Amino acid sequence: MTEKIHNVVIVGTGPAGLTSAIYTARANLEPIIYAGMQHGGQLTITTDVENWPGFENGILGPKLMQDMTAQAERFGTKIEYDLITKVDLEGPIKTLWAGDKEIKARTVIISTGATARTLGLEGEAELMGKGLSTCATCDGFFYRNKKVAVVGGGDSAMEEATYLAKLCSEVILIHRRDVFRASPIMLKRAQNEEKITFKVPYDTVETVADSNGLTAVKIKNLETNEVETIELDGLFYAIGHTPNSQIFKDFVDVDDHGYIKVSEFTKTKTPGVFAAGDIADPHFKQAITAAGMGCQAAIQAQHYIENLD
Ligand code: NAP
Repeated sequence: MTEKIHNVVIVGTGPAGLTSAIYTARANLEPIIYAGMQHGGQLTITTDVENWPGFENGILGPKLMQDMTAQAERFGTKIEYDLITKVDLEGPIKTLWAGDKEIKARTVIISTGATARTLGLEGEAELMGKGLSTCATCDGFFYRNKKVAVVGGGDSAMEEATYLAKLCSEVILIHRRDVFRASPIMLKRAQNEEKITFKVPYDTVETVADSNGLTAVKIKNLETNEVETIELDGLFYAIGHTPNSQIFKDFVDVDDHGYIKVSEFTKTKTPGVFAAGDIADPHFKQAITAAGMGCQAAIQAQHYIENLD
């Protein structure tokens, strides 16, 4: 039996991957898309998306991704709920592995996005889900009427703190500098919340726990070096993300942070391999820019296939 060679294999089902799927499916390329660990990507762990054009009153992240998935399937995209663990992208026929399963493709679109960063404090792994979280919209519910803190000074930190202020009795925002990366509108929204107290410039130096989980956090004032212990029920990290480019590194160039470098829109250094969305975007990291790159990658993959001998 001859092994099937797919025209397009897309790795990752965030806005970039699913947009690539919609476009390549409508071009009759019969794409196959691998969902990985988090089908729908980061938007599935957010609440209201207010900046996706076309929805005057916003749309819930999970609903947007569910609709995008259905749209991709309507045109014949095949979704595999498997994780790609290894790749060999050299040559005209690329090989990908999902565990032991081998998949062959003429083109590959990498849209694996990025994963939440942690501080690397002692005992962190054991406390995940026991007072420590990287996703307020996923876990905030468990801290209703409780006292929590958020670490970070970007839009994610502001969004998470503002979200938690609606649920929790008290929210402390801990940031290591007294200037913020967050956009002025998001910062203002958090500053206007009565329940949010800002602690800047403070480093988060230690977590304190008992057998049930986190009980407090130790923070150090970076101006005085004084360490303070704050009793807490929950601690949320919102300190950015790391691009999921590890398994592709032998076949693409990456920058110092691990983002895949692309030229001429979404081309990587390996012919037939394209990268779209947060995995290749250290600047904008928006759902809409990811979708735009997904469209570019799809059209570039289509042209690449048309020009094959
Ligand atoms: P980010 O903008 O990179 O901000 C990360 C924050 O975490 C920074 O304040 C950074 O501090 C802090 N940080 C990083 N490493 C740290 C460490 N080891 N210890 C303490 N603090 C640390 O990440 P983001 O907030 O996740 O946002 C990423 C992108 O998504 C941005 O472009 C943002 O605009 C976008 N976004 C948009 C929305 C929205 O529009 N609804 C919501 C969320 C995110 P320093 O500033 O000191 O480096």
